[in-house]
Amino acid sequence: MPAIPQPEIAPIQSGSQFAVHNPATQEIIGALPNLTANQITDAVSKANAAQSRWAATPVRERLRILTRFAELLCDQKDAVASVISREAGKPEAEALSTEILVVLDTVKYLANHVPAFLKPETIAHGNPIMKLKAGKLLREPYGVVGIISPWNYPFSLPSVQTLTALATGNAIVLKPSEFTPFSSLELEKLLRAAGLDPDLLQVVTGDGAAGAALLAAKIQKVVFTGSVATGKRVAQAAAARLLPVVLELGGKDPMIVLEDADIDVASSAAVWGAFMNAGQTCLSVERCYVHESIYPKFLEACVTKTGKLRIGHSHPLRRDQSSENALNVAQRMGHPEQEIDIGPMIHERQLRIVQSHVDDAVTRGARLLAGGKPLPKLGPSFFAPTILADVDHSMTIMREETFGPVLPICSFKTEDEAVELANDSEFGLAASIFTGNRKRGEALARRIDAGTVMVNDVIACFGISEAPHGGVKASGIGRTHGRFGLEEMVWPKYVDSDRLPRMKKLWWYGYGPAFAQQMGGFIELLFAKKLINRLRGGVKSTKSYLRRRLL
Ligand code: NAD
Repeated sequence: MPAIPQPEIAPIQSGSQFAVHNPATQEIIGALPNLTANQITDAVSKANAAQSRWAATPVRERLRILTRFAELLCDQKDAVASVISREAGKPEAEALSTEILVVLDTVKYLANHVPAFLKPETIAHGNPIMKLKAGKLLREPYGVVGIISPWNYPFSLPSVQTLTALATGNAIVLKPSEFTPFSSLELEKLLRAAGLDPDLLQVVTGDGAAGAALLAAKIQKVVFTGSVATGKRVAQAAAARLLPVVLELGGKDPMIVLEDADIDVASSAAVWGAFMNAGQTCLSVERCYVHESIYPKFLEACVTKTGKLRIGHSHPLRRDQSSENALNVAQRMGHPEQEIDIGPMIHERQLRIVQSHVDDAVTRGARLLAGGKPLPKLGPSFFAPTILADVDHSMTIMREETFGPVLPICSFKTEDEAVELANDSEFGLAASIFTGNRKRGEALARRIDAGTVMVNDVIACFGISEAPHGGVKASGIGRTHGRFGLEEMVWPKYVDSDRLPRMKKLWWYGYGPAFAQQMGGFIELLFAKKLINRLRGGVKSTKSYLRRRLL
């Protein structure tokens, strides 16, 4: 078999340009500019200049452009899916279901909810004296939102954040991952084709230095999605200038399978949840705890289902005639001309992390039931879907984010033990519980420390536009998606308007014994326990008020 060329593990840096690879074939997809700090500062200045016009544009007009964008995306879904698949290596089926579908649904959500969300909200005052004032809450756009994105969902992550920011009146400067920038450029292209002023969304390409330059420019908020390590650096840079942040970071999501769960359903969920996108999903099932009474059957079902998965090259397998090697290899793997289930990892560095977690687990006594090794015949970044049984929390694979196609499983005896294991993690992004009894699942969900807990499903919450997405503990700060995601893109301005413009306020100057009596009486009127004391307080307060007015 002809050898497949060894790849670079990072985009090739060559002066002011960097090259982007297809992780399946290692072909170079294209080269893009590594923008300088000055160029990024300029982009932010242009965005700032355009933003006030955009904020003054009626919300219906803003949403019309977003809706037009959605129509274009729907028409061009296959071409966009192909761009995503080519640079991220994922099956086109996943590009459609977990990226494009999510984005289209987001536009619908925004069109349906943003007009009401941005309407001034009347705030009723409880304190009787404050009822003389009318309160309104306005939601103001931040200005320019900087978005920094990872490579694993290169289209849906930046798109959902960008569209939410645009709908609420912000401009955006977006720094995509240097491994997958072309998906963001598709977003930019389609929004401009839909009529968006080019200055309102500018994609700035480059590596981490470009992200750091964006943080240093005059943005008014940053929405960062990526690893915990980079997230901490972003938080530090943001803290130095009191820049508001949203941090969507890593996860180590647990899945609990109770004894009353349907084994067939739960095992299918575990296999999909662990291996989808080659396990490179922040919401991947990274730990699986199964009740001891069904443990052997569950393991057997997972191994059988994993054995049927098709691993290979998605896009080039069918269309790129130049990838002869890839085609031959894939045919030899027995899946010619078919869509695949699992593609490559993004790069070899990630693959090496996965291998080290698997090796550590096996050395510490885990049983390897499937996979456990790379698949070099397919390419240097392919890793076989792996199942490990009898894992425990002394193993790295149960503590650190693996971010690869590995399903580590162990058994538990009681619900309390399952909850304790699930919560024994520095992360808290999402979790899932499988049970035949929904009420039992929902009760258990309340005991799990995670931003989202799904009962009888995995990962899918990301596709619910109304559901807030985000984590607790090391998984991040803030939310994207849904109402909470909208709130992150605006700052609250409270407008207080007095109904009696000709009346001096009771609490203004004029301090003295009468003032103290008036306030004391008022406090008793509102808060004294006994009715009689409240009445006395009312009389005292009124008398002293009248006395003050006569003075
Ligand atoms: P990463 O942290 O390496 O990079 C993310 C982005 O930050 C990239 O665009 C990168 O160029 C940029 N960057 C790097 N250094 C920077 C710096 N000093 N200042 C500013 N920007 C900088 O993450 P990754 O490897 O691209 O993505 C994988 C990680 O993302 C995983 O941990 C995964 O769990 C996480 N993730 C989280 C979510 C979520 O919603 N919680 C979603 C997807 C991915």
